[in-house]
Amino acid sequence: MVQRMSRMMLKTLRDDPADAETTSHKLLVRAGYVRRTSAGIWTWLPLGKKVLENVSRVVREEMDAIGGQEVLLPALLPKEPYEATGRWEEYGDLLFRLKDRKGADYLLGPTHEEIFTLTVKDQCTSYKDLPVILYQIQTKYRDEARPRSGVLRGREFQMKDSYSFDADDEGLAESYRLHREAYTRIFERLGLDYRIVSAVSGAMGGSASEEFLAPAGAGEDTFVDCPACDYAANTEAVTAVVEPPAPAEHPAVEVLDTPDTPTIETLAEFLDVPASATLKNLLVKVDGEITAVGVPGDREVDLGKLGEHLAPAEVELVTAEDFAGRPDLVRGYVGPQDLAGKSFRYLADPRVAPGTSWITGANQDGKHARNVVCGRDFEVDQYLDVVVVEPGDPCPKCGTGLEIGRAIEIGHIFQLGRKYADAFQLDVLGREGKPVRVTMGSYGIGVSRAVAALAEQTADDKGLCWPAGIAPADVHVVAAGKAKQTELALEVSDKLHAAGVRVLVDDRAGVSPGVKFTDAELLGVPTILVAGRRAGEGVVELKDRRTGEREELPVDEALARLT
Ligand code: ATP
Ligand code: MG
Ligand code: MG
Ligand code: MG
Repeated sequence: MVQRMSRMMLKTLRDDPADAETTSHKLLVRAGYVRRTSAGIWTWLPLGKKVLENVSRVVREEMDAIGGQEVLLPALLPKEPYEATGRWEEYGDLLFRLKDRKGADYLLGPTHEEIFTLTVKDQCTSYKDLPVILYQIQTKYRDEARPRSGVLRGREFQMKDSYSFDADDEGLAESYRLHREAYTRIFERLGLDYRIVSAVSGAMGGSASEEFLAPAGAGEDTFVDCPACDYAANTEAVTAVVEPPAPAEHPAVEVLDTPDTPTIETLAEFLDVPASATLKNLLVKVDGEITAVGVPGDREVDLGKLGEHLAPAEVELVTAEDFAGRPDLVRGYVGPQDLAGKSFRYLADPRVAPGTSWITGANQDGKHARNVVCGRDFEVDQYLDVVVVEPGDPCPKCGTGLEIGRAIEIGHIFQLGRKYADAFQLDVLGREGKPVRVTMGSYGIGVSRAVAALAEQTADDKGLCWPAGIAPADVHVVAAGKAKQTELALEVSDKLHAAGVRVLVDDRAGVSPGVKFTDAELLGVPTILVAGRRAGEGVVELKDRRTGEREELPVDEALARLT
């Protein structure tokens, strides 16, 4: 069907929505692609749904190409499997929990490892049934603390999630490789500029995990990028978790009483040291969060540096009550600092595991790692190695000065190993007739987020500007005039449609050509065909939405060009 704007439910807006900060949020709303229903919850309007479908189709084709089998699991899930893996608790406030009429607990799925594991346990019994790659494109629910940027971070969103099941480690490595290649093809076909970065540091050991990041100012991830070679890493990977020391070595935490007016100066006074002193045993609150904990004999906090970095008013000593019952607090780091900023300096020596190799080499002296905290939540009783990368720091691969940028996480591939198989005793009968534990991978693409990421990367000051194939139409035909123009526009549209070209035609009566041109640019279909001034002679104008290049030519030539 030719999409006729005269019959479409489409209202474009001239002004940005008041609450929108990012380009994709502004433009997707203004161009009538999406409509906010509630915080982080979006309605996909006709044009938006088309783009979402186009992205889904590419994802589906490439998943099928690696042998993925599409399924559809429920979004409404029973609590028990998530309790079995501990995630019912671990997810905390991120999980949407609900009860049925009998009082039984349910959740809205944030991701589906548990249910896929149980599905395969039910369906596969022998190593001959493996490998299996299952995927779905489905609505996910996460009660994000800060739903923002429109569909970039929704509380309800579309994800392609897939899960691989293999009988051995080599199989998992192969399933992971297949996904990595499929993702590369998907993001290339979508026309996204992206980087593959390691998502965990080597300090985690073993299991591979990589993220696909789309560089964009609106992104919430910070990554380091080498302009000269293929090296790139998420700064989240720079902060790694290291094994905690044995309990006996846990130094006792000493709690200080609070001075009345908690500033750097009163802190120093309270401790009876000069403001430039090097201190031990320090607990600090920044913006209400306990962010630094000094441990006796273990590390030192340079007060002078602390004062330099944090506005005095932000610093508050922690009372014994604050700390009571919280032996789980992370020790050995100070934050938060804005990763987007340039300079980070260490405030405390983080615990550096001997032999840990860092992507920046910043802690190569084994002592003074520089320190950064990415806002990421740290888990209970984890010890952290923290390193900062500054622009210009040498690339660990080739030595060129690194760049630091912002990006959107559009995909994530992860070798899970046997964590979920262990939780549910997922075994298959092995070659030798004995049960073997299955090993798994999980792989996600933010399908709805990819739409926003594309909008971020491709839009210009006039509006959206979709890559071919992803746009809601291939050609936007504009009837710029009266009956004659409309007649020609519809005729051209029908011919294009008959030739398999997806057409959107602006045949609205009583709308000025100026408004139609502005709307065409806002909607972002790659090619605009105008039946205007010279329609009577059978001449139309072809315009490239991206470059703005325009050309007048006879209808037949235009048709030949577009079909
Ligand atoms: P983020 O770091 O942005 O919160 P995540 O690491 O929590 O994402 P994953 O659990 O890896 O996300 O989920 C797989 C993919 O789903 C992500 O790579 C991302 O593209 C997408 N995604 C995750 N959360 C959201 C969200 N709230 N809205 C839209 N897409 C999302
Ligand atoms: Mg998240
Ligand atoms: Mg992430
Ligand atoms: Mg992720």
